[in-house]
Amino acid sequence: MLQSQLFPKTRKDAPKDADTLNHRLLVQAGYVRQVMSGVYTYLPLGLRVLNKLSQIVREEMNKIDGQEVLMPVLHPSTIWKQTGGWDNVDVLFKIKSRTDKEYALAQSNEETATPLVKEVIHSYKDLPVAVYHIQWKFRDELRAKSGILRGREFLMKDLYSFHESQEDFDKYYARAKEAYLKIFKKLGLVAKVTEASGGSFSEKISYEFEVLTDAGEANILYCDSCDYCVNVDDIKTYSEGDTCPLCKKDTLKPSKAAEVGNVFDLGQKYVKAFDVTFIDRDGKKAFPIMGCYGLGISRTMGVIVEKFHDERGIIWPKAIAPFQVHLIELGEGRGKEIYERFVNENIEVLYDDRDLGAGQKFVDSDLIGIPVRLVVSQKTDGKIEWKDRASEKTELLTEAEVISRLTLQD
Ligand code: ATP
Ligand code: MG
Repeated sequence: MLQSQLFPKTRKDAPKDADTLNHRLLVQAGYVRQVMSGVYTYLPLGLRVLNKLSQIVREEMNKIDGQEVLMPVLHPSTIWKQTGGWDNVDVLFKIKSRTDKEYALAQSNEETATPLVKEVIHSYKDLPVAVYHIQWKFRDELRAKSGILRGREFLMKDLYSFHESQEDFDKYYARAKEAYLKIFKKLGLVAKVTEASGGSFSEKISYEFEVLTDAGEANILYCDSCDYCVNVDDIKTYSEGDTCPLCKKDTLKPSKAAEVGNVFDLGQKYVKAFDVTFIDRDGKKAFPIMGCYGLGISRTMGVIVEKFHDERGIIWPKAIAPFQVHLIELGEGRGKEIYERFVNENIEVLYDDRDLGAGQKFVDSDLIGIPVRLVVSQKTDGKIEWKDRASEKTELLTEAEVISRLTLQD
């Protein structure tokens, strides 16, 4: 893409109400615009990041036999009344039509996934089933804040699984947890698996995936010497300085964290509400065991900015950077030719073809945060200067060397 044609420009001024880095940097670098508190437009650069993140999540969900669907956001009130959510879920947005019919905006999709699956489950042979979608969610959050970390409208991947027995479910639950850890690892994040209560969903233990960051709202206690971690907001058994109950080598430290995902054993709450039954191996009618698995895609994008930046701007991990390289031309030269060659080689490139000085171009490049910066100018003498966003080191490479490095990158 030609940077001269990218319609949102970078901004020098910080947005007035930005209380967090992700908000400030994403707006200044031209990834998002706030429409109102908790509601954002994703601009071309931001949408590329969101789509790449979604794709990584999608691939891992497909590997655990998830089948992708797209369920609606606008729901009839009846399904929410059937599960009790209409009166009990405080963040549920409720709307009335002009003919006085009542609707809800999806804050999650158990209410559509369960009746959907009911239609196909007759016998144990029809199980297991796992469906997921990547869809916008709406929540009447009292305090939408921290940029895209807490929205009133946000993108979530939510998967719903149905198994014939607790034993089968438990195996799948473990696989799903592994898939989550793989996703966060690919994104360069360390997500601590945190035990929490099942919240409004069930009496059972659920697991949250927490990334340590001051911008997060969860209060956790974690151990530096092993993976132990608890959410102190609802598990009051431990306090700061206690010996780690798992490895017993270290003491528990407090931290703020952002919950990027969670998995719940829903038991039979929803399948009972919608009367989802199947004929089991003994020929008897039974209820399946249901699980739900949420991952906040837009929140994760924000968390990545909180974790990967410096005083000059964002430093995207390669896996979700809007472009692989930022090609910058200084003066008149071979920039256009190199850009076209990259496009032909399927290298994702943002080409700064603007008539601006080196200073301004470098400032913008650092702010936008594409992992590799390439400069062509009279000074590079027929070669291309390569600089990783995260490092100060520069190297002069030939065009062929640059292309082979970029096409060999994973
Ligand atoms: P939180 O405790 O942060 O409110 P939650 O327990 O309500 O999260 P879930 O209902 O389980 O979250 O939603 C699944 C995932 O969706 C969360 O792990 C989080 O990553 C993301 N998420 C939840 N609420 C929001 C929000 N308001 N804005 C952005 N992402 C969100
Ligand atoms: Mg919540």
